Amino acid sequence: MTHRSSPARLLVVLDADSTLIRNEVIELLADEAGRGAEVAAATEAAMRGEVDFATSLRSRVAALRGVPASAFARVIARIEPTAGVTELVEAVHERDGVVAVVSGGFHEILDDIAPRLGVDLWRANRLAVRDGALTGEVDGDIVDAEAKAQALRGWAEELGVDPRRTIAIGDGANDLRMLAAAALGLAFNAKPAVRAHADLVIARTDLRDVVPLLP
Ligand SMILES: [Mg+2]
Repeated sequence: MTHRSSPARLLVVLDADSTLIRNEVIELLADEAGRGAEVAAATEAAMRGEVDFATSLRSRVAALRGVPASAFARVIARIEPTAGVTELVEAVHERDGVVAVVSGGFHEILDDIAPRLGVDLWRANRLAVRDGALTGEVDGDIVDAEAKAQALRGWAEELGVDPRRTIAIGDGANDLRMLAAAALGLAFNAKPAVRAHADLVIARTDLRDVVPLLP
């Protein structure tokens, strides 16, 4: 995918949780630790932009300590793709575009989900695992709001996509910088803080509604 012979015509970057998929993966992982409700409330606050994303993520991941790595398969089985994702991916590819996902969630899940949905490129956090269980720590730098914006800019440059032909789609406060970095920033399934700052709000939770907006 990264070895294209010609520049891509278009780049569409999606958030993962509550955008590409209907779930918040960290809540599904927390269910495995019996702490789903507590982590769901903390995730809601982070997505509304009430707390610092990285600080919140670290404390939520700490709640996952001891969850066996074997739980990833159960979590993957519970994931529901958002309506219209297949149609959107096909429409971008028909226009010689690239579909990318950048997530404050986790590679351990996206590495399975993203290729199945036809996503070309993806970047996310990694969960530290020791002796077959989560340590409760994030492995490496956290993908926060600024990292999401940087991913969009970096991919556009690597792929030779004109910055005027970039679209970002997200629901959470940590997507706002990415939405601002794109030529067209779309609030999708979005929190009020995101709706207020996006170029456009997609009212239905159906990714097919993005297709008519593709350049
Ligand atoms: Mg999200």
